[in-house]
Amino acid sequence: MIVPVLLYHSITPRGAADADRWAVTEDQFRADMRAVAESGRVPLTAGRLGAGLRGEEPLPERPIALTFDDGFADFADVALPVLDRAGLAATIFVTTGYLGRPGMLSRRALRDVAEVPSVEIGAHSVTHPHLDVLSPEPARREVVESRQDLEDEIGRPVTSFAYPHGSHSGRTRALLASAGVVDGHAVKNALSHSRDDDLAVARFTVHRRTGRDQVRRVIDGSGAPIAWRRERWRTRGYRLVRRATERLG
Ligand SMILES: [Zn+2]
Repeated sequence: MIVPVLLYHSITPRGAADADRWAVTEDQFRADMRAVAESGRVPLTAGRLGAGLRGEEPLPERPIALTFDDGFADFADVALPVLDRAGLAATIFVTTGYLGRPGMLSRRALRDVAEVPSVEIGAHSVTHPHLDVLSPEPARREVVESRQDLEDEIGRPVTSFAYPHGSHSGRTRALLASAGVVDGHAVKNALSHSRDDDLAVARFTVHRRTGRDQVRRVIDGSGAPIAWRRERWRTRGYRLVRRATERLG
């Protein structure tokens, strides 16, 4: 079963100056959410998607997940009203060191967002580093401290985490698990599926230049390659090596 997981960053409000290339305009975002609503897919938070991947609860017939990285202020001002009106659940992965910076959510706004039942708050590190190249202790602190800070702020468990830049490895994956994170989100620009890795869920990045047609196809389950678990690729690799060796031998 295919599970498109869309990844957004900033949603630029109408009339605002052009932001960076990762930003999507409000009109583009509205068009995408209309496509989600029309697709009949059921948006799941990261937590509910993870529970489905682990078989702890059934996945709906046509699931999708909407995720937002970094913690931009326009999530609360622009994206959330659109999501709320359409009844679409979402997850925002917050970089805690960015809270209160210009353009980013304030702690007050974060607490307000946390009050919305259809929104899950996940962590996205403290300083947004590539976790896979950090040494173990600083990497561990990025996960543990961002998670703890969010839990203290919203007064609720935070059990999902998105890797900054999508960078992850076997080690960062294990780090997440040891830090009590149960749902990990990667990038991969591929479609997730019901057998995806619950500690490195594949997501598809939507940015300024992504065509609305392609977003629609991704929502439909066909606009991007399907992600497979890394272990599976490794198995396949070994198999090829074995075959080659057998042929030689
Ligand atoms: Zn990020």
